[in-house]
Amino acid sequence: MGVRRRASGLIMKINRIKYYSTNQNAPEVSFREALLKGLAPDGGLYMPSVIPQIDRDILLSFRSKKYHEIASDVLDCFLKDEIETNILHGLCRDAYNFAVPLEKVTTGNYILRLDQGPTASFKDFAARIMARLMNYYMSAAGERFTILTATSGDTGSAVANAFHGLENIDVIILFPHNEVSAMQRRQMTTLKGNIRVIAIDGKFDDCQQMVKKAFLDPALANLQLSSANSINIGRLLPQTVYYFYAWSRVAAKGNEMVVFSVPSGNLGNLMGGILAREMGLPVSRFIIATNGNNEVPEYLKTGIYKVIAPSFDCISNAMNVGHPSNLARIVALYGGMMNEKGIILKHPDLERMRKDFFSLSISDEVTRKTISDSYKKHKAILEPHGAVAWKCMESYREQTGSEAQAGQLFISLETAHPAKFGDEICRLLGFSPPLPSSFESISEIPEEFIEFKNDYIELRDYILKH
Ligand SMILES: *Cc1c(COP(=O)(O)O)cnc(C)c1O
Repeated sequence: MGVRRRASGLIMKINRIKYYSTNQNAPEVSFREALLKGLAPDGGLYMPSVIPQIDRDILLSFRSKKYHEIASDVLDCFLKDEIETNILHGLCRDAYNFAVPLEKVTTGNYILRLDQGPTASFKDFAARIMARLMNYYMSAAGERFTILTATSGDTGSAVANAFHGLENIDVIILFPHNEVSAMQRRQMTTLKGNIRVIAIDGKFDDCQQMVKKAFLDPALANLQLSSANSINIGRLLPQTVYYFYAWSRVAAKGNEMVVFSVPSGNLGNLMGGILAREMGLPVSRFIIATNGNNEVPEYLKTGIYKVIAPSFDCISNAMNVGHPSNLARIVALYGGMMNEKGIILKHPDLERMRKDFFSLSISDEVTRKTISDSYKKHKAILEPHGAVAWKCMESYREQTGSEAQAGQLFISLETAHPAKFGDEICRLLGFSPPLPSSFESISEIPEEFIEFKNDYIELRDYILKH
């Protein structure tokens, strides 16, 4: 409805923010197209060609608004000529129905806990609104599509939960029968409705191969298949919102400057923060906190970028990334160009990057010590990802003592619930953190899933039948 009517208006078209490909060899597209396509046809990632500015009045008004209201205002800056404001507001209210605690640890030091969503990971923030935006466009056009994805555990449950209950989207998730924990499986198989879960008698790689075949299969060409993967622009824009929200909770005077410490893997989380700052959020610096996969801190230090392949296995396992896909977006924003293999075709402004970012790699040993120390000193419970960020923030404060005294505020992001790392934390602290309520009830709900052999034809027939 809304979309089609507006698309024909010339003025609307002119005002719309277009999205370009970081490889600069594909046409600019609307948000709708970038969202539904995911990857640009030249293999690049979509970026907004114009970054909208947030009015100072609106920024100050965030201090008395709820999370979903801030989300709606921020996303409206990008989408106001594509989606009606009241519709966007409804989607945000539906997506953000959980708490976003900001924990004060010491004076001027905070932890932003992004772990209260249905899968207890910060990925819920992006996945839930992306799912609703896709569903909105499908229902506006009277179409349906199917998300087909393979999972080795956590991504599948985040996608399943995000799309659960949406009318115009079906989800099919493949998982390797014997390689997923019972808790991870239950998070997918207890949802039912539009979420179909298939256990494959094989490995994760087999599941991925089957998904790839389906995307290339002419027999399925006239079905609308999508993979909802993590580089989608529809995941990036919502990740600007919690930076605005966090600032609004600590900015009593309204002129406070914040340093954010971001536990980083593919740099999607960080990229959200960078966009928020480009929109006008008062951020003095970002700390890019990495585990032993240190290609980003090394790049900033030396100016030479070296992919780590294969990546190192660290306990902050969602950050085991040897070549962050969003680095190409950051390089683009600083005037350079990097292709998907990590080759720099045009150097970005490295001096400006060094002013804006502080980056450090933290070993597993120091990560574990940080989990113990922060509990002993501050009663703050961190899991490995959040501990990497917290430690980098402490190191940064030690190195920049004077800046810290001048009323500078620090916010460290916690990206997963500590209960997801219960064994590790129990070894370090002597107790297991309690599970979030969404996890507790799950063991009582009956599961539903289909079992297939490692056979593509069986999968294809199933997709065609449904
Ligand atoms: C995905 C993830 C990260 C890394 O985020 P990027 O956007 O890839 O940098 C950090 N912590 C947790 C718990 C995650 O799931």
